[in-house]
Amino acid sequence: MSWKDVLRFARQGSPAPDRRVEKSDEEWRKLLTREQFAITRAKGTERPFAGEYCSSHEPGVYACVCCKTVLFYSREKFESGTGWPSFTRPAAANVVSYHEDTSYGMERVEVLCSVCDAHLGHVFPDGPGENGLRYCINSASLVRVSTE
Ligand SMILES: [Zn+2]
Repeated sequence: MSWKDVLRFARQGSPAPDRRVEKSDEEWRKLLTREQFAITRAKGTERPFAGEYCSSHEPGVYACVCCKTVLFYSREKFESGTGWPSFTRPAAANVVSYHEDTSYGMERVEVLCSVCDAHLGHVFPDGPGENGLRYCINSASLVRVSTE
């Protein structure tokens, strides 16, 4: 998985998920806090250094706050200094999907949960790992569910 793959997925479609969860905004509103809804369903961004998991490096598994699909492992979390939880890769290639995002006059790649389409954050080609990727994810879109 490289930046080239990310761009290809963003342009041509991402790997299909194992399952799908689809709910109306009204249903999501009942399940999520106001902040979780604003970020995951309305594509908001939390303030940097404000999120629960921003500087937390406890062992664990990070799941989608909406559908509980496992998205990231703490062993791939790193301190990026950006103020948002940052990961070098997703838990599996088909748990996230990629979309070109040209909002705010920027060319970015948006990362979504491929199971329920929750907005998670963005991915950038300046990560520290072998694949050079940095997944910059909102804390509010994640829930740490267990230890590894
Ligand atoms: Zn989800």
